[in-house]
Amino acid sequence: MKKLLILLSLVCGMIFMINAQQDKIRVIVIGAHPDDCDGDAGGTAILWAKMGHAVKFVSVTNGDAGHQEMGGGALAKRRMAEAMEAGRRFGVEYEVLDNHDGELVPDLKVRKEIIKLIREWKADVVITHRPNDYHPDHRYTAMLVQDAAYMVIVPNIVPETPPLSTNPVFLYTQDNFQKPNPFHPDIAVAIDDVIDQKIYAMAAHESQFFEWLPWTAGILDKVPKDDKSRLDFIAQRYRGGVSDNIKETLVKWYGDKKGSQVKYAEAFEICEFGRRPDEKEILRLFPMLEVK
Ligand SMILES: [Zn+2]
Repeated sequence: MKKLLILLSLVCGMIFMINAQQDKIRVIVIGAHPDDCDGDAGGTAILWAKMGHAVKFVSVTNGDAGHQEMGGGALAKRRMAEAMEAGRRFGVEYEVLDNHDGELVPDLKVRKEIIKLIREWKADVVITHRPNDYHPDHRYTAMLVQDAAYMVIVPNIVPETPPLSTNPVFLYTQDNFQKPNPFHPDIAVAIDDVIDQKIYAMAAHESQFFEWLPWTAGILDKVPKDDKSRLDFIAQRYRGGVSDNIKETLVKWYGDKKGSQVKYAEAFEICEFGRRPDEKEILRLFPMLEVK
């Protein structure tokens, strides 16, 4: 009898685990450089991760051009270590592909790499840049991910990795570029509760936020030395605010009262090449939204 009870509880436990696995939302964020996913979708990633969902960040290039004094293998190695630490702080898996920074082209080799990654992660949601962006690596990353949409379900493409049974939902991250068309926020996520964790996680990219980016902005001499001031330094520059159109989207998803009070948010636009989610599916994939 005792053995039977133990067996029964083991079976129940397994069923529970299988269900939990099936309910898990699987998200892959694909950026051009080690730090892009972090700033664009880091807060939302923290919220998913805290709810037990699976998030992976991918940098398509190794970041080996992003510094004024270092470069090549030494910089790529440093940025890999920074990405791993950032992943730990965000609570997500982080992978950096070994393509040169500043030299990315949307070729078949990288397209296949992206298809394989999306399939292996069994992604429900894929997030990337929009294809109109100032940086060629961002533009081509967007194009590579667009080229992978739909192909991820085609068995004869990258045949060694089993295809997905359904095309994931593909989303673009927010930017301010206006031509040929401005970003349209279909979904906006309030990240006020995790903004400090997001800034702390971004700070793991020391070579970027305290060296390279201040150097490009001509403010290298303004970078503080102590940890607390360094976090404030990033927060002031990258915490962002809520523009009128993002506020409108926040009100749609959170209701008037909460939506209009949100201070920090991340917004996403639905890419037409992925599955088109209806409102019900958006709420399933973004369980942190609270429709009122
Ligand atoms: Zn970038």
